Amino acid sequence: MLRVAEHVERTDTGRQRRMNEDSYVARSPLFVIADGMGGAQAGEVASQTAAAVFDRGLPPGAGSVEERLAGAVQEANEQIHGLSLSSDELAGMGTTLTAAYVGEHDVTVVHVGDSRGYRWRDGALERLTTDHSLVEELVRQGRLEPEEAEDHPQRSIITRALGPEAVVQPDSHTFPARDGDVFLLCSDGLTDMVGEAVVAGVLAGAGTLQEAARGLIGRANDAGGRDNITVILFRLEEVLPADAAAQGTDDDATRAGAAALRAEDVRRALEESGSDPGRAGSDPGAVTAPRTGPVERRTPIARRQTASPARRRRRRLRLGMGWIVAACFLGVVALGGYLASQTVYFVGSDADGFVSIYRGVPYELPAGLSLYHRDYVSGVSAVQLTPQQRRTIVEHRLRSRRDSDELVRQLELGTLSGH
Ligand code: MN
Repeated sequence: MLRVAEHVERTDTGRQRRMNEDSYVARSPLFVIADGMGGAQAGEVASQTAAAVFDRGLPPGAGSVEERLAGAVQEANEQIHGLSLSSDELAGMGTTLTAAYVGEHDVTVVHVGDSRGYRWRDGALERLTTDHSLVEELVRQGRLEPEEAEDHPQRSIITRALGPEAVVQPDSHTFPARDGDVFLLCSDGLTDMVGEAVVAGVLAGAGTLQEAARGLIGRANDAGGRDNITVILFRLEEVLPADAAAQGTDDDATRAGAAALRAEDVRRALEESGSDPGRAGSDPGAVTAPRTGPVERRTPIARRQTASPARRRRRRLRLGMGWIVAACFLGVVALGGYLASQTVYFVGSDADGFVSIYRGVPYELPAGLSLYHRDYVSGVSAVQLTPQQRRTIVEHRLRSRRDSDELVRQLELGTLSGH
């Protein structure tokens, strides 16, 4: 029978993202990768919620491994979907999920989205999963050549994920496996940056799994590292049943388990902070632009005139008070502006030309202070849009989160007409 001889997990934020929204579970013989998406920290919440479900291992039950894994996918989907409905911060979040379970003679892979599974055998790389992505569907329909798909600007748009809908349909397959097989699970941060020939080259050239994992992440970063990169590699060996029984299951390494940010914590934090998650930005019509007019500086100016030391002291005192009052005034204005700027959003394009959602208002203060930050980057390139669609992303109209999400979603799906 088969057992996992060794496994290696490695995740990297990449070169361009600030946060890592990928999560993974390595609870041999179960391995999972989840690649979260959504504004702010929602993507992280989504992927970690999914990982937490799988962190309990293969769900017990009478069904086949495929059915039991599909059941866990469904459970994770329900949890993420429920959380996404519970607060505006988490609305619309989702995650991919690719899980592999090593059985006695085979490996079962279930997946949703575009995190992939590969098998490396006898120097050949074989892909085990079919991306649930717009680009892959176009290839299947014969409307796009596979080589065009590899660097298509919309390749990160996925058509299936855990979270957005109440029910999700995972794909599942069981592959016969044998001694020496190496399986690779990876997020799209790897496969969007490097082709399969490069992946195969790294695997062929690496002396150890550790070296292979490091090499894959290195190549993805060398190619730009536009997204978080996560890889799991495990090698199988054939053993006698007695040896397999002696193998413990205590070699767990679970990033989601160790991570502090659990969905439960996020929900509690939102409740404790007193912010009403259902309220903020829920009414697109109710969004008001914050006042960002120029702030009049009331700087006291010391007059140059001769005065007695006592008067000078008094004046210096008054002057000090004036500065404090002015500083407080500016502080209050700045704080008010900041708070106001954090409840509105606008849609624009980022430095790379991708349509993005920004939180805040589209203004910059002197000294490089900006009143906005990027919340979500879509896979839609601004150059792909029609002139009419492009206008919606250059006008920087202030919107609610929901309205912004809806606009970007329509751009992603290509269903936006006049807006
Ligand atoms: Mn990704």
